[in-house]
Order: sequence, then structure tokens, then C-alpha cells
Amino acid sequence: MGCIKNENATQAETGQNGLDFNPYDIMEPRAPGKTPKNMQNGAPVKTHDVAPQGVYQPDYNILTPHMRSPEYVQMSTAAAITLGVNKGRMYRCSCTRCLNLLLTYPEGCRANCAYCGLARHREAERDYADRNFIRVDWPAVPMDVIVDKVASDGPESPFHRMCISMITHPRSDDDTVAVLKKWTSRIDPETIPVSILSNPTTMGREDVKLLKDLGADIFTVALDAATPELFDRTRGKGVQSPHKWAKYWEVLEDARDIFGPEKFGVHLIAGMGETEHDMLDVVQRVVDMGGHNHMFSFFPEQGSLMDHLPATPRDQWRRVQLGRYLIDYCGANISQMKFDDEGRVTHFGLPAGELEDVIQSGLAFRTSGCPGKVAEDISACDRPYGDSPPSDIASYPFQPDKKDIKKIRKQLGIPNRLV
Ligand code: SF4
Repeated sequence: MGCIKNENATQAETGQNGLDFNPYDIMEPRAPGKTPKNMQNGAPVKTHDVAPQGVYQPDYNILTPHMRSPEYVQMSTAAAITLGVNKGRMYRCSCTRCLNLLLTYPEGCRANCAYCGLARHREAERDYADRNFIRVDWPAVPMDVIVDKVASDGPESPFHRMCISMITHPRSDDDTVAVLKKWTSRIDPETIPVSILSNPTTMGREDVKLLKDLGADIFTVALDAATPELFDRTRGKGVQSPHKWAKYWEVLEDARDIFGPEKFGVHLIAGMGETEHDMLDVVQRVVDMGGHNHMFSFFPEQGSLMDHLPATPRDQWRRVQLGRYLIDYCGANISQMKFDDEGRVTHFGLPAGELEDVIQSGLAFRTSGCPGKVAEDISACDRPYGDSPPSDIASYPFQPDKKDIKKIRKQLGIPNRLV
């Protein structure tokens, strides 16, 4: 097995009608359909109630066992390969440095985010533990097996960080605490620090504080959508989903107060209908608060409510990817950048030589996320090909080489379009 998934969805060369960006009007999600009652809330899994036997490999709706956090968690295929519970190879990289753990329940995530493979509207189509998420399968593994393996590797562990991804479920807050405690009882969080990818909808300030007190290092909020309208359309009322923009910012502010500068941040997905200016404006807002931005390129996840829409054209993606890095790590400010009438970046506000140095370093184009043990601006979260196929990489899970940089410069329109 590899972590490269066969795709029906194709990579966009350009946006619809030859545009080099995805405009708001075309990025309309499908409306979610109705789920028959007997398929709701994980009923098939709970009715069959098959006991899990060790590691579960997703097999698409054939008697999925009854697995629940905190005893079980899911992990990305890349993490499973690196941990040694899956066999496989990863294109141009040997392992991932971040052990991403995802809470799991037969009821699954109760939210319905339009771009997400885990969303509730898929209940009738696939059991939760069988759903694809950011382009790959997520095997379910007993938490005891994970902790045993990582603890026995000690300082030799390939992982630079562990991350608990919460989902929208009534047990999610308590089980995140249980998973964190299980980890820190055997593994020193100074050696492998822990990040929390939170679910603000079910959380209050006390929950944020408890996670910090228990040893979590970084707290992030998956804002994903860059504007309140887009958020509501893709994660809120627009798709019968419970999330609210204001609540996400409230929890982010709690994280700022409790975790402190550089120890909190947001996830953002570029190309869902916002302008480049909208996106970089949020990036600047988060940096002004003292946090960081982890950015991904929109890719139409199979089975999601946006799987009929174009992936983010490379031009748009490279511009916001570079802009994000400049604001996050190079002291650039959106107020010095220039934009055209469509909100596209036309100037990054840096002298051409300085900009060229940043581009040539390649760091701006790598996967973004919480830092590992190499440098502040090199993410531990280098899970490969979560936002693109390997044939046209959006976020590089390794250091781009000369050939990659040449391609990136072309995508950025250098030397013709940008200076
Ligand atoms: S809350 Fe997270 S896991 Fe649940 S549907 Fe939304 S993006 Fe997916």
C-alpha cells in the first residue's frame, strides 16, 4: 500500500472559464441529501456490533467493527506507514514527522462541512471508519498499540510531533483529554510535543485550559474558510452543519490567552471562493494576534459536497502560499502588498531580490503546520499529498529541488507577471 490514492477528481490547470482563481460564484457546494433513519448515527455498525481485532484497515462498508475513542483512534496512511502498522512507500519521501491521530466513533463527526470526506451526509454511503479524508484512508489503531510502539522507539522515534484531531461529537472533549493523558503517561511531551487540532463548536475556555495544563504544546483551530460568508456556506447553515464563525474566533482568542504567542494558530483552505486578499487578510489577522497559519490548497475530496468543483488553480495557490509564508515568517505585511480588482496579489511588497531569495529557499512551498525539530518554519506535519496528487504537488512534503522551484516560478508567473 502507498499513500497515493487513485483519483477521479482531477487537478485544475486553471479555474473554470480559464480563470486563474476559483471565484465565489462557482464554488457552490451541493445540498446534502437525506439519510434514511436506519443509517443514521452509525446504526449499522452499532447493530452488528462486531468486536475489533487489532488494527482495522478501511474496507468500505463491510461489517466495520465497533470502535470508539479513546481506545481506538484513526491515523493517516502516511502515519500508519511510518509507525509500521501499514506497509507501503511514499513518493519522494521516506516518512512523515507528525503522528496525526483522529478521534473515531461509529456515529462519526456530527458536522457536515462541504469539503470534508468525514462529513455526516455520507452516513448512508460509508461507515465512518471507512471514509476517505484528505485523499487517503485512515486505518484505525488501538491507542495502546500506538503508545507502546512510540514509547519503545524512545529517542529513535521518527515522529517530531503528535497531533490529536478532534471531531464534532459529544464525547470529543473528554476523549481528547483521555488520549492526551494516555500519551503523556508513557511519552515525554518535551521529546514529542503534542498539538491539538480543536473543535471549537463543543469547547469552552476551561477545555482549552485543561489541555494546556495536561501538557499540550500548540492549539490550533481549523477555521478552513477565510470569510464569514464562506464559513457559513461550507461549514454552517448552508450545509446543515453546526459551526459558527464567531465561536471559532472566540476559542482562538482563548487559545491565544492560554497557550501564548507562537503556540496557537489556524488552518485555512485556499481556493474555496475567497479572494487572495480575503485569505491574506485572515493570515495577517492571526499573525497580528501572535499566532501562525497552516494553509492547504482546496482539493475536491471524493464523496464530499464539493467533489464536483475545481481544485485551486496553481497560480492562485502559489500566490497565497507565498504570501502566507512572507507574513508568517518574514515580517511582511498585507498593507505593503498590492492587489488587482479581483483581489489577486500583484506585488508582495518586497524588493525583487529579497522575494527571489525566499522563493529559491523553497520553504514557502512546503507543507505548513506545527513545527518539528528542524526549524520553526519547517513543519513536522509533512503528511504527503493531502491537498494534491503527487503529479502536481501543491504543498511539498520535502525540500523542493531545482526542478521543482523552476515549476513553482512558472506557476507564480515569474518573471512576467509578478515582480
Ligand atoms: S468538523 Fe472537521 S471532521 Fe467534521 S465534517 Fe467538519 S471538517 Fe470534517
